[in-house]
Amino acid sequence: MPPVSESADVVVCGGAAIGSSVAYHLAADPGFKGKVVVVEKDPTYRYAASALSAASIRQQYSSAVNIRISLYGIGFLRQIGALLAVDGEAPTIDLHEGGYLYLAGEAGAPILSANQKLQAQEGADIAFYDPAALKQRFPWLNVEDLSCGTFGVSGEGWFDGWALLQAFRKKARSLGVEYRQGEVARYVTEGGRVVAVELTDGSRIACGAAVNASGTHGARLAGTAGVAIPVKSMKRYVFSFTCKSELEGCPLLIDTTGAWCRAEGKRGAEGQLFIGSCSPLTPEQDIEWVETDPTVEDVDWDFFEEAVWVPLAHRIPAFEQIKPGRAWAGPYDMCGLDHNAIVGPAIGVPNLYLANGFSGHGLQQSPAVGRGLTEHILHGGYRTLDLADLGHERIVTGRPLKEANII
Ligand SMILES: Cc1cc2nc3c(=O)[nH]c(=O)nc-3n(C[C@H](O)[C@H](O)[C@H](O)COP(=O)(O)OP(=O)(O)OC[C@H]3O[C@@H](n4cnc5c(N)ncnc54)[C@H](O)[C@@H]3O)c2cc1C
Repeated sequence: MPPVSESADVVVCGGAAIGSSVAYHLAADPGFKGKVVVVEKDPTYRYAASALSAASIRQQYSSAVNIRISLYGIGFLRQIGALLAVDGEAPTIDLHEGGYLYLAGEAGAPILSANQKLQAQEGADIAFYDPAALKQRFPWLNVEDLSCGTFGVSGEGWFDGWALLQAFRKKARSLGVEYRQGEVARYVTEGGRVVAVELTDGSRIACGAAVNASGTHGARLAGTAGVAIPVKSMKRYVFSFTCKSELEGCPLLIDTTGAWCRAEGKRGAEGQLFIGSCSPLTPEQDIEWVETDPTVEDVDWDFFEEAVWVPLAHRIPAFEQIKPGRAWAGPYDMCGLDHNAIVGPAIGVPNLYLANGFSGHGLQQSPAVGRGLTEHILHGGYRTLDLADLGHERIVTGRPLKEANII
């Protein structure tokens, strides 16, 4: 084994939202006195999903663990100024609890209804609306082909994702976490445990535990320790456009077609700025990036016209008059088994902690995942919110935790 340059109790591979949340939670835990090193290959985060995200948070999931994670997440985001202040300077993330509005026709109505019951049972503030109630609350909405909608009255909305990442990172550093620019080449294992993290420059950091928070690169990195995870990089677009008409109280709307939109920032001279897109409806429609970083500028405007603008203008007739703006592409680290995150110790390599496959909801899950992994690393199990449903075991045994509400 080449000379070990240094050692740390925990090495976190990837320092965006998830890696920085884990680092912060570890350093902030009064029971942890060790050293944390975060290895991040690109401190500009240019291609990181955390920087390219739509940065929204919802409670409207179909599995209890995801609802609980987001209930914790919204509480954390509401208190972020106090929790992540450094030297009396409180971060702001412009949290706007505008709600999500999921819409359904006849076919989707039973799913929305069942989801809403589960969400309410878990304590999420989600209302169920028939078409008349939808029209009353959102007069600008075309409800003629709708059977129902579910709306997050509180606890859902959007925020500044870049500010969240920077707040985690700044707070972690203030608590003694070391950020190192470098690219992790592989995990060095001995006897079924990670003993060091090797960088592409050949240097090694010996460690007691390692965290894989490398986003779309998670599968390759886990593979160097002999751990298989079905995580792929999938391309997603975000388009912006302005609309002159006022859409009072417009939430993050998800149409029956999968097209979605939400307001962004305050109304200006050009009208209200919106962002929106559409998730490919079948996995076959997904575009896979293999071993390459996405090009942020690689945007398909035909996709906007066909899959976003047309369905949204049907749902919100005022959108017939929109003016398209800028757009970008970003990567989802998609879990191929069930579109849910893989969180916790790797089966077969128990001191390698996985935080991968967030499938489009990692930013909102970063507070709960950071806290959960910290508990697992320090105590060998979860102490507050049990994240075992997201564990690696379901991957190894092929038991998916199906999530019905994907965007
Ligand atoms: C278009 C889009 C919209 C989204 N909208 C939402 C949303 O509304 N709400 C939500 O919650 N989530 C959303 N997401 C998902 C969310 O952004 C991600 O799940 C989350 O940011 C994942 O964070 P991460 O830290 O795991 O990964 P990333 O942000 O991708 O960060 C991974 C980091 O690891 C580093 N890295 C990779 N390999 C190595 C290596 N070998 N060595 C060292 N460093 C390495 C990278 O440089 C990067 O900084 C969206 C994503 C996209 C693309």
